[in-house]
Amino acid sequence: MLNDIKEILYSEEEIQSKIEELGKQISVDYEGKNPLVICVLKGAFIFMGDLVKRISVPLETDFMAVSSYGQSTKSSGVVKIIKDLDATVENRDVLIVEDIIDSGLTLSYLIDILKRRNATSVKIVTLFDKPVRRTVELVPDYSGFELPDSFVVGYGLDYAEQYRNLPFIGVLKEEVYSS
Ligand code: 5GP
Ligand code: MG
Ligand code: MG
Repeated sequence: MLNDIKEILYSEEEIQSKIEELGKQISVDYEGKNPLVICVLKGAFIFMGDLVKRISVPLETDFMAVSSYGQSTKSSGVVKIIKDLDATVENRDVLIVEDIIDSGLTLSYLIDILKRRNATSVKIVTLFDKPVRRTVELVPDYSGFELPDSFVVGYGLDYAEQYRNLPFIGVLKEEVYSS
């Protein structure tokens, strides 16, 4: 598995200290509130676990799974809900936890849904962001690291459902895709 990695972009230690920072900031901003923290499956599951441990205000967790319609690499912006929330978002302060923002289409659709369900507020925290890839205007409220335009794996992010268990974020060797 490690042999497939060309380059490590951020180590486990760098990721953990960034998450500590994000957690502190979120704790300050949500003081006196009881946010509903939503993990976007599957990619964000490890980040979600590490992040909520660093948030000191009371909160509720929930999980949602979405996928772009069709199998094309370009999302139409229409997102299919595979697993919906258990919780009601009405009158809740919602914080969406995402692994990485690329085009931004998935999240802008999700934000739209949650606002239509009458959430009091909807904010986004993403661990990784590739702003140069954006096709819709979307700026996360909290962001860990900006990445260049390359496909990354590890720390929850997969290639063909593999590599999610790597504790760091890295770039795959080209031969892994082409084999
Ligand atoms: P968007 O709708 O922003 O284009 O799609 C974002 C989703 O695509 C992310 O939540 C993630 O699941 C996936 N994705 C985008 N970039 C990468 C990447 O570099 N590596 C991996 N493994 N997944 C990515
Ligand atoms: Mg994701
Ligand atoms: Mg994936």
